[in-house]
Amino acid sequence: MYFAVISIFPEMFASIRDFGITGRASAQGQVTIDCINPRDYTADNYRRIDERPYGGGPGMVMMAEPLAQAIDDARGRATQHGCRIDAAHCPVIYMSPQGQTLSENSVLEMSDYDGMIILCGRYEGIDERLLMHYVDSEVSIGDYVLTGGELPAMVLMDSVIRRLPDTMGDDQSAIQDSFVDGLLDCPHYTKPHEYAGMSVPDVLLSGHHANIAKWRFGQQVARTQARRPDLWQAFTPNAQQAKWLKALAKSDSNSH
Ligand code: SAM
Repeated sequence: MYFAVISIFPEMFASIRDFGITGRASAQGQVTIDCINPRDYTADNYRRIDERPYGGGPGMVMMAEPLAQAIDDARGRATQHGCRIDAAHCPVIYMSPQGQTLSENSVLEMSDYDGMIILCGRYEGIDERLLMHYVDSEVSIGDYVLTGGELPAMVLMDSVIRRLPDTMGDDQSAIQDSFVDGLLDCPHYTKPHEYAGMSVPDVLLSGHHANIAKWRFGQQVARTQARRPDLWQAFTPNAQQAKWLKALAKSDSNSH
């Protein structure tokens, strides 16, 4: 998958390109992360990409022209990487607190793209006309405001890269995580067997895979009900989960 990130701080992206699972995906060529600095597309000696806002007010606004050229260049590079340049295959995404909030469902949809061109804002944001002319969608990472779009862009890329086939050591681990089947994940334990006066639940030592799966599902249900009633309300069990839910309800009523 191809990523072009347009940012005035390209060095920040070393942390996603060089470390961990995303670093390995980049080193093995499963993903390409190209950083494009809009300052390279300015006409003046100061490499200026921001100006004061029309109408007055505090702060600066990123100018349309250097960003437009950076996007055009990114599209050229994306084409060379085999991307189809349209909103469905290689969209231009603006990281913005005003965008659609990122979710595991939207991440999964985006993992089907050929690539994406990600715009990182700074200051008060970007000239609206550039957004209207070039941007296919705006993505937010939550209802709070950061100083720039670089961290949100890395959040987006990290979450998409881990859903690509073969980027995780074990593909099962991505599909067992929170939100994937509509529930939160179950608790996890490792060595030692005893820690701080607490021991690992017996069922996890039993080697009985069906009982372990059922126990884990019960934990997922209890956590989701307690922590995220909104998710629980929207949850639709599959056939196996419906059976487990029946069994859990039965053992609950027996214990009362
Ligand atoms: N004036 C803008 C507003 O209130 O909507 C906020 C600008 S913010 C200080 C600078 C840049 O940070 C934005 O252009 C955007 O790229 C990025 N940013 C800030 N918060 C974000 C969030 N929650 N999600 C995605 N991007 C964000």
